[in-house]
Amino acid sequence: MNTPAFKRILLKLSGEVLMGEGGLSIDPDVIARVAAEIADVRAQGYELCVVVGGGNIFRGISGAARGMDRATGDYMGMLATVMNALAVQNALEQIGVETRVQSAIPMASVCEPFIRRRAERHLEKGRIVIFAAGVGSPFFTTDSGAALRAAEMKCDALFKGTSVDGVYDADPKKVPTATRYETVTYDRVLSDNLKVMDASAVALCRDNNIPIVVFNIRERGNLARVLRGQATATIVQA
Ligand code: UDP
Repeated sequence: MNTPAFKRILLKLSGEVLMGEGGLSIDPDVIARVAAEIADVRAQGYELCVVVGGGNIFRGISGAARGMDRATGDYMGMLATVMNALAVQNALEQIGVETRVQSAIPMASVCEPFIRRRAERHLEKGRIVIFAAGVGSPFFTTDSGAALRAAEMKCDALFKGTSVDGVYDADPKKVPTATRYETVTYDRVLSDNLKVMDASAVALCRDNNIPIVVFNIRERGNLARVLRGQATATIVQA
């Protein structure tokens, strides 16, 4: 894949990415490996924002399916993202990378509130900023949080780490003949309902011209390789 030269990127990590084979919600080995990838890319001079999901712990929609009030479930989901953010922060600090966690829901004893100018300053100082609690409102997802923060922080691209190596015209785990797009437009993703991110997140990226790079984060060293244009991935763009 020919990746354009990006300087500041936002990495979206789904909660699922932090889970191991053994069924642990947060697998220490997996999180340490992801942290090493992030540290590696930081050492190469990239500025990095990270948005973490919470689906490995709780999703509001699953709570609603069991009769819970949807908004309450969503707030629980947002709290789950804060737990994941702290776990990612901890793993990064264990390998000497300076980080700050900023939450869209203020919780003064735990982490900083989201303040754009302060986040900017952290990035200038070489820190990695981990954004938690999505957009801070129920009925959204952390994909939307990622798109919003990428726009606010003027990121050159949103990197979506998944367990597949790009966007396919069908589910590659179910359809053996599924083919991968090298590039695909935002509009095609939306009209064909391709599994990239939820529609509001894709539309926000489209409206702000932020490319979405979908790649496999489960392969060791892949984030750095994708940034150098040496790994398989799909770019969603205009
Ligand atoms: N959530 C929310 N508003 C947001 C971000 C997240 O209500 O802005 C809740 C929602 O319930 C969601 C859960 O937090 O299901 C976990 O986030 P998400 O499903 O995006 O996590 P991921 O799939 O990336 O692990």
